[in-house]
Amino acid sequence: MTRACCALLPGPAGPFLLKDVARRRRVSHAHGWIGCAEVGDHGLVVHDGWFRTVDLGDGITRIDEPGVHPLLRANIWHARGRDRDLVIDSGLGVASLRRHVPALFEHHPVLVVTHAHLDHLGGAHEFADRRGHAGEPMADPPPGSLHLAPLAAELGLDPSLLGETPPDLLLTDLPGPGYDPRRYRLRPAPPTCLLTDGDHIELGDRAFRVLHLPGHTPGSIGLLDESDGVLFSGDVVYDDFLLDELIGSSIGEYLTTMERLHDLPVRVVHPGHGESFGLDVLRRIAADYIAQRRGDRR
Ligand SMILES: [Zn+2]
Repeated sequence: MTRACCALLPGPAGPFLLKDVARRRRVSHAHGWIGCAEVGDHGLVVHDGWFRTVDLGDGITRIDEPGVHPLLRANIWHARGRDRDLVIDSGLGVASLRRHVPALFEHHPVLVVTHAHLDHLGGAHEFADRRGHAGEPMADPPPGSLHLAPLAAELGLDPSLLGETPPDLLLTDLPGPGYDPRRYRLRPAPPTCLLTDGDHIELGDRAFRVLHLPGHTPGSIGLLDESDGVLFSGDVVYDDFLLDELIGSSIGEYLTTMERLHDLPVRVVHPGHGESFGLDVLRRIAADYIAQRRGDRR
């Protein structure tokens, strides 16, 4: 059953996400866009259809923002239920989800924010029912930036880790005419309900158990449908370079989280970034992480 909602206190000021080095992520503008050829003030192409939607079957839809640089391009997940829908994460917040993806709002959605990094929290303020862990600063997030240098400074991340020629602007296109990336600020979205490990989110014909999975951030959470082994993992696990040295990250907690994930009865993982994958990949990622980080500590 769903926990009763409650008034919440903001978590400690915490880290942002800058998506990883992401060398393997592809930049693709070819799928599902209703774009136009208008050129904005910054010389970038302006698109009317900012979000890209992919139906994965089983009532699961993945939404992302192809005009965001792969370093910051996160997944928004939409799981349909009989009584209400579940939305997991909310993108960067440079364009309105309610305007561009109204289907997300049509069936009493509960939004779960896996963690408060800007590419997951950005559109959360548009939802009436917003849930997250107390360890995440949803109510008082750092302002964020679409420019690498200030964002890296907020993260405590060395920009040189991102490669030889890291971009200045973390958008590859613009969401609308006249949009000025310099004015971007992450909007606070105080949770209307706090989630803790073991809570359940009930949609009527499917339910998800909340897993507290610290390591990437203090209050990172995943959602597991125990009836059919579907895991929404946020940034705790995706098939790419994992970030465990940001401000607020904890390698020790990440190791414990990976040990837990390795033994979960999971059929498919829908991650915070990139494509979905199965149990074999989950176990490979977890085992590799554990082997590497334990080795580092010896
Ligand atoms: Zn993150």
